[in-house]
Amino acid sequence: MPIPTEPVGSLPRPAKLQAAIADYDAGKITHEELKAVQDAACKDSIERMEATGAPIISDGEQRASSFATYPLAETLAGTGLASNLAGDGQYFAIFTDGHHRQLPRLTSGPFRYKTYAADYLREAMKMADKPLKQAVIAPSMLYLLYPLDGEIEGYTREQFMEDLVDECEKDIRLCFAAGAKRVSIDFTEGRLACRNDPNNPWTGRGMLEEFIALNNRVLDRFSAEERKNIGIHTCPGGDCDATHSADVDYAELLPSMFKMNAGYFLIQLASETDKERVYKLLGEHSREDANGVPQVCFIGVINPQNPRVETPEEVRDDLLLASKYIPVERLGSTDDCGFSPFSIDVKPKHGSPDFARDVAFQKIESRVKGTQMASEELGVA
Ligand SMILES: [Zn+2]
Repeated sequence: MPIPTEPVGSLPRPAKLQAAIADYDAGKITHEELKAVQDAACKDSIERMEATGAPIISDGEQRASSFATYPLAETLAGTGLASNLAGDGQYFAIFTDGHHRQLPRLTSGPFRYKTYAADYLREAMKMADKPLKQAVIAPSMLYLLYPLDGEIEGYTREQFMEDLVDECEKDIRLCFAAGAKRVSIDFTEGRLACRNDPNNPWTGRGMLEEFIALNNRVLDRFSAEERKNIGIHTCPGGDCDATHSADVDYAELLPSMFKMNAGYFLIQLASETDKERVYKLLGEHSREDANGVPQVCFIGVINPQNPRVETPEEVRDDLLLASKYIPVERLGSTDDCGFSPFSIDVKPKHGSPDFARDVAFQKIESRVKGTQMASEELGVA
């Protein structure tokens, strides 16, 4: 079997869509008018991703407010926020360029999603000829909706966790029911949990093991056969061409991360300074048998924050080096992260979101070609 290759999920929203979202927030256009612009952006994303030759694609998450907030609100400005959420939650991340992103705060129970990822996927299925993947948010991220200390009156932390696990399971099952070939869980908060940033209190609470246990509560509800197609994505964040936890040593995260019983992992790596060291860690800590499934390591070979397009030869060489440490039957390739996990993102290093889209499709094409070249070289094509 050739080396598999898969995107994380998002693409920059076209400038026209970002402007339409602002108009919608300002009450200048209706939801129907916004949806027409989203439809066009999804169609363009799907057609152009299919044209790269990629075996599996996504809709570029063009309808999502962000990878983390899609279940909660229609837009990042908070339009359509559920009635038991307030806008003033925790910073889930503070980025190296100083900007931050904030989560809502849960004010009462029960916790329910307003939107499931499959709501977007069903629309994308109508537009696609190739198999689609869908990214969903990890329970460990939404766990941060609950206040760090104390309890919400009438809604205990354990009640919240039970509801959260139910909702995350449902989110994944609905994706498969809608036709997703693969579902990956965004776990950007994993590496950030080791950051210990005094400006962002939760990152200093040593929550990584708690996150892993919570995510396994969801994964353990799926059979080994189902978990072959359920992945975990790790990265140091990617927003406005900046990161939030690239300075955290992977060695602090990876031994814990592979305790999650997922069948595959989408791992940021192209932008690491010492890739070989990380390949070695992946080989050491990924498991041949994670409660019935082998853990396949999809290494990042594309850096979505850098406008320079990687060549297919660079992609091939990364995979060949990684294959010295990771068995080829458990090796795959991916992008380091989504190309724009948040809907409002001007892609400053690229100059514009529209140019960044053009760059993204070229990068995906290089990933596909380079992965094919590595498969041939390793005799698995
Ligand atoms: Zn990411």
